[in-house]
Amino acid sequence: MQNNIYLCRFCGAQTEQLYKSIDYISREKFLVCYCPVCSIGQTPVLDDIGKYYSKDYYGNRKSITDSFINSVRIWRIEKMFGKTRKLRALDIGAGNGRLVRLLLRNGWEAEGTELAPSKHFENETTTIHQGDFLDIPFREHYFNLITLWHVFEHISRPREYLKKIRSLLDPNGVLIIEVPNLDSIQAKIMGRNWFNLDVPRHLFHFTKDGLVSLLQDEGFSVIKISHYSPIYSEFGLLQSILNWITHSKNIFYDFLNGKITFKNYSMRSIQTWELIITLLLAPFAILITIPIIFFETIFRHGGIIVIYAKVRKF
Ligand SMILES: [Zn+2]
Repeated sequence: MQNNIYLCRFCGAQTEQLYKSIDYISREKFLVCYCPVCSIGQTPVLDDIGKYYSKDYYGNRKSITDSFINSVRIWRIEKMFGKTRKLRALDIGAGNGRLVRLLLRNGWEAEGTELAPSKHFENETTTIHQGDFLDIPFREHYFNLITLWHVFEHISRPREYLKKIRSLLDPNGVLIIEVPNLDSIQAKIMGRNWFNLDVPRHLFHFTKDGLVSLLQDEGFSVIKISHYSPIYSEFGLLQSILNWITHSKNIFYDFLNGKITFKNYSMRSIQTWELIITLLLAPFAILITIPIIFFETIFRHGGIIVIYAKVRKF
């Protein structure tokens, strides 16, 4: 593998090989490369990527966490638009559709797209188009807001997505993209153990500079960047610290999601000491995360970035 050369999927330049990271589900190792020209990390795309999205991947995030995360998203949207009514929103990769439902409740006209099987959707009356966003027809210049929350890093054709998004946005519309930041302090400290690499499902590992350049290249102007996302920022670092200690990865994440229990952990090939050490150390690891999150947010190298952009007017 060391002798293989991987070319950047954006510019064709030769990438630097950073390290190999373990997929916590399949336990296979995957390469993380970095293009110094585009400032974007990449994991070589697999033909059979679908098999890495097993039912183990689509967890049942605790509803209280899910509600809080979506409330933060609504807060971000209302901070940008005010408490307006009858604006139109599209959430790409809408997951269980909870944000779409919240937007509808707040007076928006909202719909979503999602690749996962339709049984994943929480409420069938919500308009979630099942399939790839690129294959679903929408009216041009129709949406005031298009969002991708932890979705853009999974997409194999980001340029095509941005081109289509640009054609669908109203001239004053806003695009919001939230992704992990490879140029963050937590990513640099944790390296291959960084929770947010999530190989091989994350095909791209964006940096702020890389994503801003890509957006500008596709005709967008960046209007705002946030370097902090509650829960995502803290949890990503907390789990990374625990991953650095245990051989099996993401034990605490699976424990909180109910995928690992005291009854089934040995069936998941997790050693008893790994479960015990995870649960004992988690409270201390939280204490370590607080100053790091504080500094990476203040110094604008946050583990998670939220980028707001508008279509550039020539
Ligand atoms: Zn490149």
